[in-house]
Order: sequence, then structure tokens, then C-alpha cells
Amino acid sequence: MVTFTRTEVQDALAHRFLRYSAISSQSDASASSIPTSPGQWELARLLRDELTEAGASDVHLSETCVLTARIPSNLPQGQKAPALGFCTHLDTVDVSLSPDVHARVIDYTGGDICLNQTHDIWLRESEHPAIARYVGDRILVTDGTSVLGADDKAGVASVMEAAVRLLAADAADPDSAEPHGDIYLSFVPDEEIGLLGVRTMDLARFPVDYAFTLDSCELGEIVQATFNAGHAHITIQGVTAHPMNAKNILVNPILLAHDFVAQLDRNQTPERTEGREGYLWVNGMTGNQSTATIDISIRDHDRAGYERKKQYLLESAMRLQGENPRAQVNIDISDIYSNIEDAKTNENVVATQRLRDAFAELEIEPIDLAMRGGTDGSWLSSQGIFTPNFFTGAHNFHSNCEFLPLSSFEKSYQVVRALMSYQDGE
Ligand SMILES: [Zn+2]
Repeated sequence: MVTFTRTEVQDALAHRFLRYSAISSQSDASASSIPTSPGQWELARLLRDELTEAGASDVHLSETCVLTARIPSNLPQGQKAPALGFCTHLDTVDVSLSPDVHARVIDYTGGDICLNQTHDIWLRESEHPAIARYVGDRILVTDGTSVLGADDKAGVASVMEAAVRLLAADAADPDSAEPHGDIYLSFVPDEEIGLLGVRTMDLARFPVDYAFTLDSCELGEIVQATFNAGHAHITIQGVTAHPMNAKNILVNPILLAHDFVAQLDRNQTPERTEGREGYLWVNGMTGNQSTATIDISIRDHDRAGYERKKQYLLESAMRLQGENPRAQVNIDISDIYSNIEDAKTNENVVATQRLRDAFAELEIEPIDLAMRGGTDGSWLSSQGIFTPNFFTGAHNFHSNCEFLPLSSFEKSYQVVRALMSYQDGE
């Protein structure tokens, strides 16, 4: 007989999550406007209304669907605390699953979970052994046709629940309310397609000393390092000719593109690297008789290593041009985001300490990760706002087997609450 513990907070979080996840808000990499999908507007407007109703200050929804708000400090005059921020994202990822999420809570008694009887879709313990840790827990799961979107709606829900409760306590009795400094909230669109939304944020509406994202997976995860990320787009213009009299005339851009890719180090690829090893990922190639293009993602935790990779691509393009003077080789390299770690200073490193203190207080074992990816915090950090990332509590992001145990969800929320409260000695 498995017994289930359920708390009032878990129920509130689950309820909030189900409401937000019912709004389809997949981002769309093929769209040219920001936000890239109408559902993100719908969710942002809902959050805006909820924050306004809860009494938040400076609630503002920008033209690009960036929602910002402030919970004003309730500290006595003259007492100052660092201004802290939370940033979570409105979109869910498009991995060619259904954009519509039909989440539900199950009481997990162990073994495999049938996600969808009609389509015979299962979450198997043999494929996802971590599920065994949650026997006796209530778990949010999908119907097997979509992601759960705990990435990042669990983050959105935890921050909203904490904000609404803090504002209610402030309004009920300012004198006995839990003391806290200025807290800024931001909800941004289109994280999953290259951090497009956060880049449009007016940072004057987010004047924080440091910030946090809730955009990592299982209970305990802390991310203080992300990749430096960039993108290279190479265009090769050849010379076309009829093959019957092409000798010494035709320049085939497809073969040149092949040469370019062939000289890259096959050991510095995503499939051959791990941990803190960077890579070049050739992830797009087109070609016809006149033009070929190559797309390459550049990733490295180490700034110098990242710059070396960019330099290498530039030099390779110049060499290809030199060897093929009748072709035209162009390379465009753009920076996308930077390593969170590089924004750490003596002043803002307290953000990490506060996370660790919150974990210790809540008896959460920290799992330190150097993330092989980026978060909205990677962009904020590139703007000088150190923004570590911590867990939502979910497993299997970007999969139809994504699941979120309510006990972990509650812990993520409790970390938000702990971070929000003022601590002596700040
Ligand atoms: Zn995310």
C-alpha cells in the first residue's frame, strides 16, 4: 500500500501549472516576429492580469511580449537589500510533437506509466529509471503526444505562486509580513529558439543586482556555467556552366562546401565531446549549381576556446577563398549568448551563496552542472547581470516523457520563497 502526502502548496502549484500549460505557447523558429506564436501573448496577458490583481507594481507588457513587474521592498526606510530578479520563459519547445499540452496529475505507485491508452504510449521505468525515486509522489505527466512544458511553465508557476503569496502577505499586514527587498519579475518569450525574447527586454525595467532563472531539470540542479554560443553562416558562390564545355570554367560550390566541412576536427563535435569540452556542430547545409551554404553552431564554456573556434572558422573560410579565387566565400559569425560564469563578480557572487543557503535550509542536495547549452541568464549575464539557474524539479525536458513530481516542484517553489526573503547582513 503506497501512501501519498499532499500539501496545500503542491495543490496550488499543480492547479496553476495545469492552467498555464493548457495555453499552447510553442515557439516557432520559422516565424519572423517576436513573439513567434500567439499563445505566448495569451499566457503573458493572463500573467499580467494575475500580477495586477495581486497588487504588483510597474506591471508592463512590452511590444515583444516581455512581461515585467516589481514587488516593492517592504523594508523599513533606510534599510537596503540587493534588488533581485527572476526570469522565466513563456514558450515551450517545438520538437515536432503536438503543440497542445494535456497534462494531468497521477498518483505514482511504481512501475511503468501508461501515458496514452488510445495510442499505447508509455513512460517505461526501464528507459527512465529515475521515475522509481518517486513512488508515493504525485506526478505531472503528459498524454504522450507532447512535451509537458515544465520547461519552463513550472518555473513560471513557482515564481507566480511565490509572488502572489508574498504580495498578499504584504497587503494583509505590512508590519508582520516577511521582510524582503525589491524583487523584479520577468517573463520572456521565445527562449527555446535562441533566447530571442530576453534580448528585447528593456533592462531599465529589470534593474537588478543579480537574477535567477528556473530552467533546469531535476531537484538540486544548480547551473552557474553555460556555453559561450555563436553561429557561423558560410555562403559559397560558385561559377555555373554547361558540363559539356565546363572544363576550367565551372566552379562547383557543393564540392567547396564539402572541402570546408571535411577539414573540421571530427573530435570536436557534439557527439564526441562532454563536460566542459566545446564543439563545432555542422547542422545545416544547402547546395545547388550556383550556391552552397553551411551553418555551424559554435559552443565552448571557455571564452578563449570559443574565440579560437571562431578564429579557426574565419581562417578556414579565407583559406578556401585563397585556394579558389574564382569562387566567392563569405562567412558571417554572430555571438548568441555567453557563459553565465563570466559575469560573476565579488559583489554578485552572493547570488550563488544565497542559493546554496536556501538549498541547505530546505535539505536539498546540490547538483552542480556546467550546462551544455544556454539559458535566458546566459544573455542577461552577457549584459552584466549574473544569473544562475536552478531546478524546476522536472525530468526529461524536451520529451513526451517529461514528468514533474509535485514534491520537487514544491521544493523549487520553496527555493524561490527563500531567495525572495531578506537576509540580515546583505
Ligand atoms: Zn527552458
